[in-house]
Amino acid sequence: MSELIQLTAAELAAKLAAGEVSSVEATQAHLDRIAAVDGELHAFLATDAEGSLAAARAIDERRSAGEQLGELAGVPLAIKDVLVTTDMPSTSGSKILEGYRSPFDATAVAKARAAGLVNIGKTNMDEFAMGSATENSAYGPTHNHWDPTRVPGGSGGGSAVAVGAFEAPLALGSDTGGSIRQPAALTGTVGAKPTYGGVSRYGAIALASSLDQIGPCARTVLDTALLHDVVAGHDWHDSTSLDFAWPSMAAAARSGADPASLRGLRVGVVKQLMIDGVQPGVKARFDEALALLEAQGAEIVEIDAPHFEYAVSAYYLILPAEASSNLAKYDSVRFGLRVTPEGGGTVEGVMSETRAAGFGAEVKRRIILGTYALSAGSYDAYYRSAQQVRTLIQRDFAAAFAQVDVIASPTAPTTAWTLGTHGGDPMQDYLNDATTIPANLAGIPGLSLPIGTASEDGLPVGLQLMAPAFEDARLYRAGAAIEQLIADRDAAPFWAQAPSLVGALTGKAGA
Ligand code: GLN
Repeated sequence: MSELIQLTAAELAAKLAAGEVSSVEATQAHLDRIAAVDGELHAFLATDAEGSLAAARAIDERRSAGEQLGELAGVPLAIKDVLVTTDMPSTSGSKILEGYRSPFDATAVAKARAAGLVNIGKTNMDEFAMGSATENSAYGPTHNHWDPTRVPGGSGGGSAVAVGAFEAPLALGSDTGGSIRQPAALTGTVGAKPTYGGVSRYGAIALASSLDQIGPCARTVLDTALLHDVVAGHDWHDSTSLDFAWPSMAAAARSGADPASLRGLRVGVVKQLMIDGVQPGVKARFDEALALLEAQGAEIVEIDAPHFEYAVSAYYLILPAEASSNLAKYDSVRFGLRVTPEGGGTVEGVMSETRAAGFGAEVKRRIILGTYALSAGSYDAYYRSAQQVRTLIQRDFAAAFAQVDVIASPTAPTTAWTLGTHGGDPMQDYLNDATTIPANLAGIPGLSLPIGTASEDGLPVGLQLMAPAFEDARLYRAGAAIEQLIADRDAAPFWAQAPSLVGALTGKAGA
């Protein structure tokens, strides 16, 4: 496999800036990798080699003309298909938007382009970001590069595998209940959910607007931070976007690279997040990570968050309620698919046939659930109670952060499961998000990074760190330190350890 694709984004950016490699070469190397392995992995829904190379060439020309470019200029970027782009279709993993072309770029995409990043393709995802395995994509599942018989997590499995399998050094994702962090954990990559409002949602195809957050995915904490810096910031197109002077996440990650920076850090461990059903090998790696932190002088504090046990229940009322409203616009009139019943039919007939044909089972399930939860007779019993639980969870976090700097938990209770094994039982998928959902309900930032593999199956385990709102930089500082401790322990960076990379996938990648 080409050496270029094994560089971190930071390393590649440095070579580009020094003129040692061109963006066209870097982009071509990643396109070759996609051509070699994506038939098996299916991380991408759309690529456009010519378009990506043209964008790369434009950056190279600007650089040779002496223009001052952004730090990541010329680096390829994979983009979750939930973000609309003008240069490739945007489907959100749904048949109802098959072939849809947006007339504008999402703000996060526009910022990435302005910084000189090159769109290398749109990544696969669960339909409308509903899922924990990328098995709900209308275009077929993505396979985990650690073991292609396993799921990569979801809903952003495509972005996680794209970076993990060296198809792109960086990717954008969205996280409504864990869709950046949980796939990061299951694929041994890094992903961050910023503070709610930290990155604009303009042009992100909405799932649940009060929970949705756009964020970065990469193989290292520093790369994740570098991309975070590019996409963060105020946007008047998004009324919930925060007008805040964010510190540099990359500077925080760089300052954390020395594990001595962990001295004195107060790390909370929430009793209720060590939920029943945490796989023994996941628990063992988590405990080991805590011991590594303690050895560096961090203080581990047990935290009680009594309302966390209701987080999944509250989430699966609030999310479907908001989704049922957001998805009402797919009515065959304004976007995408239109199915006309035989003989013409009424307007209602066209809408209902279109929605019946265009939405998958999970999307329909949630629309029905959300419509029910919002209906006059059940609003108080369901939707209002869920919102009250949300407030209680926010108060639990506030009480916790009065005692600790960050909260740590396993990112997901299990490692990657075998494709098809949760089939027909959505509860199994829902419960895999019990650890990530609280952060979305509270709007706080979270980061997942790999801390080793589980002894029973050899698959990656993720550590989740959470911080108070606006304190994203704290996650990158601590995350970079822990990443260094893990690399020292293993005598190799975690991303270099995926067995599939030294086996079949590498062979197929040629060179
Ligand atoms: N797995 C969760 C769900 O199905 C999270 C989705 C997300 O973060 N987009 O809702």
